[in-house]
Amino acid sequence: MGGESTQAQAASEKLVNNGTKLKPNRAEVMDSSNGVKLTIGETATTWTIEKSEELYRIQGWGEPYFSINAAGHVTVSPQGDRGGSLDLFELVNALKKRNLGLPLLIRFSDILEDRIERLNAAFSRAIARYSYAGTYKGVFPVKCNQQRHLVEDLVRFGKPHQFGLEAGSKPELMIALATLNTPGALLICNGYKDREYIETAILAQRLGQTPIIVLEQLEEVALVIEAGRKLGIQPILGVRAKLSTKGMGRWGTSAGDRAKFGLTIPEMIQAVERLQAAQMLSSLQLLHFHIGSQISSIAVVKDAIREASQIYVELARLGADMKYLDVGGGLGVDYDGSKTNFYASKNYNMQNYANDIVAEIKEACTERSIPVPTLVSESGRAIASHQSVLVFDVLSTSDVPASPPEPLKEREHLIIRNLYETWEAIALENYQEAYHDAVQFKEEAISLFNFGYLSLTERARVERLYWSCCHKILAIARQQEYVPDDLEDLEKIMASIYYVNLSVFQSAPDSWAIDQLFPIMPIHRLDEEPTQRGTLADLTCDSDGKIDQFIDLRDVKSVLELHPLKSAEPYYLGMFLSGAYQEIMGNLHNLFGDTNAIHIQLTPKGYQIEHVVKGDTMHEVLGYVQYDSEDLIESIRRQTEQALLDKRITLEESQLLLQNYERCLSSYTYLSA
Ligand SMILES: *Cc1c(COP(=O)(O)O)cnc(C)c1O
Repeated sequence: MGGESTQAQAASEKLVNNGTKLKPNRAEVMDSSNGVKLTIGETATTWTIEKSEELYRIQGWGEPYFSINAAGHVTVSPQGDRGGSLDLFELVNALKKRNLGLPLLIRFSDILEDRIERLNAAFSRAIARYSYAGTYKGVFPVKCNQQRHLVEDLVRFGKPHQFGLEAGSKPELMIALATLNTPGALLICNGYKDREYIETAILAQRLGQTPIIVLEQLEEVALVIEAGRKLGIQPILGVRAKLSTKGMGRWGTSAGDRAKFGLTIPEMIQAVERLQAAQMLSSLQLLHFHIGSQISSIAVVKDAIREASQIYVELARLGADMKYLDVGGGLGVDYDGSKTNFYASKNYNMQNYANDIVAEIKEACTERSIPVPTLVSESGRAIASHQSVLVFDVLSTSDVPASPPEPLKEREHLIIRNLYETWEAIALENYQEAYHDAVQFKEEAISLFNFGYLSLTERARVERLYWSCCHKILAIARQQEYVPDDLEDLEKIMASIYYVNLSVFQSAPDSWAIDQLFPIMPIHRLDEEPTQRGTLADLTCDSDGKIDQFIDLRDVKSVLELHPLKSAEPYYLGMFLSGAYQEIMGNLHNLFGDTNAIHIQLTPKGYQIEHVVKGDTMHEVLGYVQYDSEDLIESIRRQTEQALLDKRITLEESQLLLQNYERCLSSYTYLSA
């Protein structure tokens, strides 16, 4: 392992970013999928749920929590392999009966618990395997999901493992201090710090907490020395190293990473000297690094831990009372289930991760006869992603017309005859050429129209013929093992648009902001063939409010296989693994506000709804931008009175208008089905 250089990976990532179809370095694939090719166009009777599993890759990203049952519905096993399961489609229907409308964010507390268990078990196994003399005490970075119920659950589930919290800002420190009540658990204090932050953190020792203030900037050294003296409490300190190993995660360079933080090696030496001069070097007990989130390559993890291990032993040799090594975040989530070092995946599992950390630091310490540290990780994404599922419904679709063209009439324009003949002749031998012809004829036709040589009716005929050609060509292309590059856009051009009851900015800001890929799939009808190909468009009028990148085994795909809508039947889609970062990055874009959120826990008798967090009402959302409902209603009332006087409206109409207006203000901002 680790045979690839980080430059090579950087280069291939760049290609992906530039839109070139390339999933970097397939040599690092852990195990290969069976590579069954789906032949689209089979009849519905031959479709099976196994085909849906394969198509949506649910085993790749969903195990052990998500699968498909015999009814063709997505099922959730919140306790992983250890417990029962529930039918997500039935659950959504039951919630709708309780007047909890879509979109719905469903959080499975048991999944959260299972993730914590797994992470701790992985480190326990690694510690046993390498006869490591230290322990593991993880912390959860609050910034990853700050929702109160979630943080409270986390602290509760983490108790047996002395699982702590990490705060990256003053507000997060406020949350962590009030919530963490586990004796012996760590409270890691990162981020920008002022005097108030530092004093509060130091004083927390008096409450029985174990706060560790991580120095991220040289100026903070003077602040902690001063605060420690003033309070007469010896602070516990850590230092964050700026490693030369660069995180290769998508987030390492693009957004959110605190690469600006940390001390360079010369600065670290200065910090040690200053602490020594203040006779506080024994306060320095922790080394921290964070090279970015979603590290997709184990080689990068190894490089970072190797470098950090050496810094750790050197700090101990300089006289610091080293006790903890905090490896930060970065533990990845396999969003596309490909098990590769593609940015939406990772080529290692939790156990590989824990093994490498334990083995590296043990080796470095043994070599220098230094006691091994307590290991800390700040894994956010790996803990919080799986527990939440966003379920939303499709409101309508818009398709490219698919009917075959009307037969050629006598004396139609030459360009129409050309297009018609192109359509007739499309076959396996010439479909690629036919596509280029069709495009060219269509472009010529538009020129002719612009110069006045083609009527509007004729132009309409041309466009319909062009679509017919595209349909026929696409049908052939889909049957092929290999689709020529120049035809790849065709799938996108011909895709249906599925209008979904969602604000992408509100519920999946990452998907919009930095092309984060989440698995999205229907949660029912999975025993039926999804014959349509679509992209998703949201409720906002913003042209960016769309999702047109979907997970795929190789790279990403621009359309998702979906079912045609049935009249009077809802169609529900689920967005999975979206529990980290998504829920907090959203703002009030387009005034849709928060979605309804519920917490589900499994009991021996079935599931139990623990918390319901109602989404924003119109009234609340408008309040955020300083509109007062009373004033708004008053304005409408005045306008209706005037209209009544002018006899522009009837009394009944005015009452209906006012009633609707008032009802809207107190209702959910999303559309009700
Ligand atoms: C964001 C962040 C984390 C969490 O990273 P994940 O990749 O989500 O585990 C941990 N530590 C620090 C300092 C961070 O900024």
